[in-house]
Amino acid sequence: MLKAVFFDFVGTLITKKGENITHQNIMREVLRKAGRSELDYLMVWGEYEEETGKRFRELAGKPYVRIRDVDTEALRKIAERHGFTVPEDFWEINISMHERHGELFPDALETLRSLKALSLHLGIITDSDNDYIKAHLKALGIYDLFDSITTCEDAGFYKPHPAPFMLALERAGVRPEEAIYVGDNPAKDCVGAKKVGMMSVLLDPGAERRELWRNCDFVVSGLGEVVEIVKGLMKK
Ligand code: CA
Repeated sequence: MLKAVFFDFVGTLITKKGENITHQNIMREVLRKAGRSELDYLMVWGEYEEETGKRFRELAGKPYVRIRDVDTEALRKIAERHGFTVPEDFWEINISMHERHGELFPDALETLRSLKALSLHLGIITDSDNDYIKAHLKALGIYDLFDSITTCEDAGFYKPHPAPFMLALERAGVRPEEAIYVGDNPAKDCVGAKKVGMMSVLLDPGAERRELWRNCDFVVSGLGEVVEIVKGLMKK
């Protein structure tokens, strides 16, 4: 019987669109503080996304290194290229912009509340630094809905390594077959869950990841569909 539902964060509970706007605002503030507002912040943002994207693809499944360090290092590389200095308080800017611009999917809150009403363990398993995820969830007003939050910082490894999934199960006090994981990345979320024997739901609104659906037990186009899947599994 299903006892726990875990969620990924970026791209699952909050939108990628909101995340992009957040990162664009971080770049604009960084350039303002560096006295280089004449530089095109969208260009700098594009380079930053490319650099961090590359780094995080390399880090998949690997031992944890602080995301603030990866992000700072990526920005430093771009700053060098354009001749500006990364502000001392880059990570504070980073967190405060996430607090300000993070955007939940329209059906996220209702979905979480419906699941909460089923008396399940509600958790998060995310590749985040602890201070980032805590501040972000609080700003979105959903921090108190979760019974557990497990990060790669806690577990010491990035998804799809089994460690974050195992730690989340341990914290919830449930067996793998009693839990399901909802994410938007088949290679990290579905594969990671499967490695520990947990079921998975892929959120794929545009049906863009078809070639990787086989890694997931369920595929949905909206978060609201998760509630029906969970109710069905609770009867088993
Ligand atoms: Ca994600």
